[in-house]
Amino acid sequence: MTDYQSLLRELPAVDRLLHEPQIEEKLRRLPRRLVLQAVKDTIGSYRQKINDYYLQNNSPACTDRLDLSPAALAEEAADLAEKKAGSNLKSLINASGVIIHTNLGRVPLASTAVEALTDVAGSYNNLELSLETGERGSRQEHLETLLCDLSGAEAAVVLNNNAAAVFLALNTLAGGREVVVSRGQLVEIGGSFRIPEIMAAGGTRLVEVGTTNKTYLFDYEAVVNENTAAFLKVHTSNYHMVGFTAEVSTAELAVLAREKNLLVIEDLGSGVFLDPTKYNLPPEPRIQDSIAAGADLVTFSGDKMLGGPQAGIIVGRRNLVSLIRGNQLARALRVDKFTVAALEATLRLYLDEETAVKEIPVWNILTAVPETLRRRANSLADSLSGLFGADNVEVVKGVSKVGGGAFPTAELPTYLVAVRPSAGNFSPPELVAKLRQGNPPVILRLQQDSLLFDPRTIREDEEEVLVEAIRRAYRE
Ligand SMILES: *Cc1c(COP(=O)(O)O)cnc(C)c1O
Repeated sequence: MTDYQSLLRELPAVDRLLHEPQIEEKLRRLPRRLVLQAVKDTIGSYRQKINDYYLQNNSPACTDRLDLSPAALAEEAADLAEKKAGSNLKSLINASGVIIHTNLGRVPLASTAVEALTDVAGSYNNLELSLETGERGSRQEHLETLLCDLSGAEAAVVLNNNAAAVFLALNTLAGGREVVVSRGQLVEIGGSFRIPEIMAAGGTRLVEVGTTNKTYLFDYEAVVNENTAAFLKVHTSNYHMVGFTAEVSTAELAVLAREKNLLVIEDLGSGVFLDPTKYNLPPEPRIQDSIAAGADLVTFSGDKMLGGPQAGIIVGRRNLVSLIRGNQLARALRVDKFTVAALEATLRLYLDEETAVKEIPVWNILTAVPETLRRRANSLADSLSGLFGADNVEVVKGVSKVGGGAFPTAELPTYLVAVRPSAGNFSPPELVAKLRQGNPPVILRLQQDSLLFDPRTIREDEEEVLVEAIRRAYRE
């Protein structure tokens, strides 16, 4: 029986592993520092294993099953080197059925937006040059006309995200003054965007009115004083109140604001230009409706229901937008050329509603009809029954979620492929982890002992790759 120290001595040295054929092969293809680090990490992890076994059992005997041969360590180090050489951020297959998934980059872009990105990425471009006059232009000009056309607003400015948009609008127009918000709208979005905190950061004083479930116009009116700057209306994107509720419409607020010489700022969150009820979805306030109702400024995200890149869009009155653009912090929150390119291409698709619904992935996915989803689920189930056995694969009715702080209560009917891997190879949670760590990674739902694949968020041209990824995870 070997003792602890001699086990540690048995570990091959770095130089020894570098001469193993598998490592030599990696050294020919991958950066040396990366391979070297993988070798060191692997040796380190074995040292840790020996430690752990020894400490747990107070005897080195159970480390007998550790294979400390150079070949064994080299194999592990070679895999690790390959992993370190791959991108950290990579595309994956979303089989979860959650459409706007913040952890998964929210939404895929339309193909024209992808092309626009590629087009400007590798070349110079006219980001801030007027091609007509040859003089310096504004990066905002590429977007403003489209945004005004679609929203009916006079002016627009695009920032890094909607949190930045709300922050900058408040900081510019209500810094050092009071802003009135209904208690029912003091929301937290995504764990770090909280209305009270963002207002404090923007230097405005929050004045809460009404109650959690009911706020009336007289509540707003009662708190107005010479220090009041604006009424802020916030879309409660990610939760929904039912029962006895009351809130004040944008139009009513706008009338009162006019009378008192105040502003109405509306944070719409999602950014919807199309009427969702036309597609059997719950109603959502549209940007153009809020502008028409008299909101002075409306803010929304670029990468939720709009289906574009991460951005925060402000549309509204020209004089107010000019003030926001002139804020010193606008530079710190400005968008880059990639955002401008992808957002312009996405907005152009909205010029024709039919095109928008067809070409913008989030709308295409939202409006997929159950019959199509059933056909796709059946075809995926067929491909998987060879692998898992027909008895372990079935198509069941289920629901997809919109996610990302939109339509919080909507459950879109879908057809799921439910797989119950039979005893053997891996347990269901192990399979979920293997799929997540695969290439490409696959994200799915686990319910009891079933792996659930929702065809709604799987692109049709990903199906073959998905089946292959599942095969590898199950077999290897
Ligand atoms: C999502 C959301 C935000 C934050 O938008 P980001 O673009 O993620 O910064 C702010 N307000 C509301 C109402 C939202 O739904």
